[in-house]
Amino acid sequence: MKIDLHSHTYYSDGVLSPTELVHRAISQKVEVLAITDHDTVLGLAEAKLAIADEQLPLQLIAGVEISTSWHEFEIHIVGLGIDADDELFQRRLASQQQRRIERAKEMARRLTKHQVPDCFEQVQALAHGGAITRTHFARHLVNIGKANSLSGVFKHYLARGKAGYVPNNWIALAEAVQWIHEAGGIAILAHPLKYKLNGKWLTRLMREFSEAGGDAAEVASPQQTPVQKREIWRLCQQFGLVASVGSDFHQPTDWNELGRGLYMTDDIVPVWQTYPDLLDEPAAHEEMLG
Ligand code: AMP
Ligand code: MN
Ligand code: MN
Ligand code: MN
Repeated sequence: MKIDLHSHTYYSDGVLSPTELVHRAISQKVEVLAITDHDTVLGLAEAKLAIADEQLPLQLIAGVEISTSWHEFEIHIVGLGIDADDELFQRRLASQQQRRIERAKEMARRLTKHQVPDCFEQVQALAHGGAITRTHFARHLVNIGKANSLSGVFKHYLARGKAGYVPNNWIALAEAVQWIHEAGGIAILAHPLKYKLNGKWLTRLMREFSEAGGDAAEVASPQQTPVQKREIWRLCQQFGLVASVGSDFHQPTDWNELGRGLYMTDDIVPVWQTYPDLLDEPAAHEEMLG
């Protein structure tokens, strides 16, 4: 039984349409999938429709991944089981999208000083009317031959401190937790080890996330060693959080696939055990724990 609670469509920086994503989930034998695009829920309706139309054996969880500012870091909070039609929630996400548009314009402006012709409109066109992300800039810069790979663009242009980096202006961590809760969802700290925090800051992040009302943290992500899973789970236990699992799938690569590498040992309490309403048939998923 495969459960994957973190994935992207082309409504943010994934490459697959929602329909292609759910087809891929089926081919990878994923039975529960959360779509968690950056600051948008635009992909959910199409995914739901494809599953219903084709009667696919896949349970879709309505999700989102909200960007927040915490000290000088950008921290991502995943919301699961949200009501995507909630009007207040949609207005709140729209405000994040507006910040994304303004940031993208400023990024394009700064890049013009580094031999990149004004690219806001081309980058916007890559985003399918959804979230404009740094990944779209990276794809554009690869397209026009400024770098060979996305990671190369991040390294030379888009990482913190580089020419195209615009200091973030996202909502606060606690605000994202509140938005998710008020939309009926549970709040999960995404990929805790991706922020490259030292031990002291990671502990502080887990503590403050918990104090803000956060519910869980991603314990299982691909490429994470058993030792790293134990480290995050230990912090979860210290601060009263349960464990989530997610591939953070954006596109098929040698190192990332839907539903892959998300194994957890049976002493770890998964989020669907504490919040059984997340799943249609919680009992059917117990073997995932084994
Ligand atoms: P944004 O939310 O617009 O700042 O974009 C962040 C996204 O960029 C993340 O969700 C990742 O998908 C992607 N990303 C961040 N760092 C890198 C990197 N070094 N190489 C490739 N993709 C990256
Ligand atoms: Mn992304
Ligand atoms: Mn993320
Ligand atoms: Mn993600």
